[in-house]
Amino acid sequence: MSSHSAKHPRWPGIIEAYRSRLPVTPETRVVTLLEGNTPLIKAERIPGEIGADIELYIKYEAMNPTSSFKDRGMTMAMTEAANRGGVEAVICASTGNTSAAAAAYASRAKLKSVVILPNGKIALGKLAQAMMYGATVVAIEGNFDDALRIVRELGARPEFAVVNSINPVRIEGQKTAAFEVCDILGEAPDFHFLPVGNAGNITAYWKGYREYHRDGLSKKLPRMFGWQAAGSAPIVEDRIIENPNTVATAIRIGNPASWIGAKEAVAQSNGRIDIVTDEEILDAYRMLARLEGLFVEPASAAPIAGLIKAHKAGLIPAGSRIVATTTGHGLKDPDTAVNSGIARPVVVPSSTEAVLRLLGL
Ligand SMILES: *Cc1c(COP(=O)(O)O)cnc(C)c1O
Repeated sequence: MSSHSAKHPRWPGIIEAYRSRLPVTPETRVVTLLEGNTPLIKAERIPGEIGADIELYIKYEAMNPTSSFKDRGMTMAMTEAANRGGVEAVICASTGNTSAAAAAYASRAKLKSVVILPNGKIALGKLAQAMMYGATVVAIEGNFDDALRIVRELGARPEFAVVNSINPVRIEGQKTAAFEVCDILGEAPDFHFLPVGNAGNITAYWKGYREYHRDGLSKKLPRMFGWQAAGSAPIVEDRIIENPNTVATAIRIGNPASWIGAKEAVAQSNGRIDIVTDEEILDAYRMLARLEGLFVEPASAAPIAGLIKAHKAGLIPAGSRIVATTTGHGLKDPDTAVNSGIARPVVVPSSTEAVLRLLGL
């Protein structure tokens, strides 16, 4: 269990906090930005709004250093790359957040970073992050899966370390989020809801929960419920999607790297993997911000859209305790926010009266 509060008045990052559960040695030089220890926020209004008698917690991963959960895997991947010897640059294909995290942690590790992106399909904030951290950003005329193929080919050279989801140590880092949930709640929840893109995160949480359960740190295991976007649902449809499409760019993936891991998590946990439409995602996106004060990026709202759908379908017993991971910050994708039908600033004359009139007071 994390000894954060007792031994570490300052959170040391996930590797130090869970060292014995991660593939590192006492000699490993750790590359960290003190990721992890993100808030588990009780949703006060959504259960009532959707008429569900449930206890809902949001694992708010926007509070990581680059504002998404990708930092958990990246501290592990960058630590491995920096300790390997001979590595000059890290390389990844990304829908955005992996590149932001890779670039930041590469700066920290004194390594170069190269990011291969599908041209024109990345949220503005994520591109700004990768550029600011000093990555070489290459936009290819192809989709995410094309970018991944190029990365795999470059990764065969010794000077490159691949930090994509195909790198297994990323999963090891990401499983720590499940540890944190159990450390706070005292055991696993009844259900864990997640968005699913490359399916690394659902694989990682399930691994984390199983380890805690095996070691007696949680009496139960949660049922894993994963959500793909309707235009981008290869696992649900059981086929590779050539041109995936969804407003939730972080889960616009046609051929998930951890496809098998996701299937296993769902099968072993008596869970479910299903789709939500872009409209349902955007409704949940606005709901999280308006009712709970949580501004997340569209992909992060998929599990809440899924919760609404699962509740309507009668899949959630009354009294269930549910954790939903919101994976990234809303500020990463400001274009979607301002174009999502929310109220624009209203221009009035510069007087207190005019403002009162506008407010109807
Ligand atoms: C990467 C990412 C996802 C998808 O996670 P997978 O592990 O690829 O399934 C979801 N939301 C956000 C914000 C992400 O960055």
